[in-house]
Amino acid sequence: MAAKLIDGKVVSEHILNNLKPRIEALKELGITPGLAAVLIGDNPASATYVNSKAKACQKLGLYSEVITRPANIEQGDLLKIVGELNRNERIHGILVQSPLPAPLDELMVTLSIDPAKDVDGFHPYNVGMLLLGTPTLISCTPHGIVKLLEYYQIETLGREVVVIGRSNIVGKPVAALLMQKGKGANATVTIAHSQSRDLPSITRRADIVIAAIGKPNTVTGDMIKEGAVVIDVGINRVSDPSTPKGYRLVGDVDFDACAQKASHITPVPGGVGPMTIAMLMTNTVLAAEIGGA
Ligand code: NAD
Repeated sequence: MAAKLIDGKVVSEHILNNLKPRIEALKELGITPGLAAVLIGDNPASATYVNSKAKACQKLGLYSEVITRPANIEQGDLLKIVGELNRNERIHGILVQSPLPAPLDELMVTLSIDPAKDVDGFHPYNVGMLLLGTPTLISCTPHGIVKLLEYYQIETLGREVVVIGRSNIVGKPVAALLMQKGKGANATVTIAHSQSRDLPSITRRADIVIAAIGKPNTVTGDMIKEGAVVIDVGINRVSDPSTPKGYRLVGDVDFDACAQKASHITPVPGGVGPMTIAMLMTNTVLAAEIGGA
């Protein structure tokens, strides 16, 4: 492999360690940052994500609550839960794990979260502040990607970034972050998506390719230029009877082929994934600092 591995575990540990003195300072003021995760239904991947978030809180000494409800909860009852969490002084961060089972309205639920407690950074207030270049609570996966680039001193100024995927939680916000004026940004950003024509000709221009698609092996070796940086956001379960669970996790990128050409590449698992949780912890501490000030 020619490419240097971008190790999300190392960078996330570094970020979590840097949070410790901030958490101690809050505790001296009698404030323990608190995160509430709301889990609706029985989606196993969602349950795994919520468990990892609660575990990360425990490890850091943050207060955490997990509220679980069945998939047939009424929209009004879910909004009531969020309303109570908005008023709960022990809770500084609220996340409602997506996807929500139908017919629950995800946007209405997001709108009901107090923007000051919106540690996922999904509320239109926080999305708007991000676009304006004055963010406080930045959505976790995009922020984690920027932190990875920063840690490995990968220059973004004036460079061509191609983001594949235009979702509200990854593609759009990571593009918005990287195009801003300022350190760790200033890139020329292109967003490609399912309707883009001739994707390889777009991605081959990129100094940095960010794949957030949700389909294994979409980015192949011939789609990247020599020396490009490849960030793989995808988390896909592919069947593998040789593993105890019967599946394994892969990204959106053909890792072996791209690693031959890239200068840097993230693995899956162990790349962007751990960063998402580290940035969620960061946002929870930040929300407690702002709320406690
Ligand atoms: P999404 O389904 O909301 O969006 C996928 C995007 O990919 C869409 O905008 C679509 O236009 C685009 N797309 C689909 N097929 C394409 C193709 N053939 N060519 C070009 N573009 C195509 O997904 P999402 O929520 O943005 O998540 C993307 C992936 O990232 C998923 O695998 C998800 O599990 C993963 N994810 C990982 C983390 C993490 O912490 N690592 C966080 C969020 C999402």
